[in-house]
Amino acid sequence: MLATEPTLTFLGGTGEVTGSCYLVEAPGLRFLVDCGMFQGGREAGDKNRRPFPFDPAALDFVLLTHAHIDHSGLLPRLAAEGFSGVIHSTAPTADLAAVMLRDSAFIQEKEAEWSRKSARASAGQRGSRHPPRRHDDLAVEPLYRMADAERAIALFAGTRYEAPFEPRPGVRVVFRDAGHILGSASVEVMLVLPDGTHRIVFSGDLGQPGHPIVRDAVPVPQADTLLVEATYGDRMHRPMDETLDELVEALTSALVERKGNVVIPAFAVGRTQDLLMLLIRLTREGRLPPMEVYVDSPLATSATQITLKHHAELDDEAAHLGRWLASAKGYPRIHFSESVEDSMFINTSATVP
Ligand SMILES: [Zn+2]
Repeated sequence: MLATEPTLTFLGGTGEVTGSCYLVEAPGLRFLVDCGMFQGGREAGDKNRRPFPFDPAALDFVLLTHAHIDHSGLLPRLAAEGFSGVIHSTAPTADLAAVMLRDSAFIQEKEAEWSRKSARASAGQRGSRHPPRRHDDLAVEPLYRMADAERAIALFAGTRYEAPFEPRPGVRVVFRDAGHILGSASVEVMLVLPDGTHRIVFSGDLGQPGHPIVRDAVPVPQADTLLVEATYGDRMHRPMDETLDELVEALTSALVERKGNVVIPAFAVGRTQDLLMLLIRLTREGRLPPMEVYVDSPLATSATQITLKHHAELDDEAAHLGRWLASAKGYPRIHFSESVEDSMFINTSATVP
């Protein structure tokens, strides 16, 4: 054990699966790995607003494992409160985080606007003699604004997988594929301390092997300290083939036998692109009928465009299917809604022509 071993503080993502954030401190060094938003549960709002237990301006840099909001969502608050160092991530994560943080800021501003209106309405009902409750005061201020998101986005520096870099002298960082979503990485940090080196590995969210779009996670060879995160770490996944059989059965029954349409709610970043890839694959294999597929979400559309831009980071099968779809010029025909009219059109269209 080294006398100057780094100190790790867990600021989220423990005892729950959101708000991932680690503070790492060693003599003359202080940085964060992830700065995620707490999501779900009644206390999430309060946790997202509680003061950082460090001075954001005094951080040397931030390392981001991937773009999901539960890992990146408080970066705008960090920037608003004085952090002006570099946020290091892979290049696809930097692109995805930009659209996600803008979307998050938009939601924060809208929610604050709604709370303001309802607080005003209830104050009117209570009469002007009563001062507004403290809760109302808090709720009307957005957690952060679009300008804060832009401030954070401007701090990003995108890096390649497996390309070591030094965010500052004495700190060597490598991003390795984590197989979770586009750009996701496990982060290896080697600290050169006065009496030796210490290697810390942060897994980030790890994907299962055989994921439809991204390459499988790259094993990390060595660590003195290992931190592992996995949202579904306490569950056994059933084989992908069984899931696909069920998807084919459900889609065939709804589209062909009952002549209906199917609405699939899916996370905009990651899951939507996985589903598109699986629909292309199953159509190519002749297991699904020719379909019209509508992606009805601006965020999912942006995330899909970014996925296509970073096609070199996708696994071989995804690249192969992309080429097949481009050359087949047939089904599934994928449409992206760009306007309210596009979204409304979906209500009247048939999935199977
Ligand atoms: Zn994630």
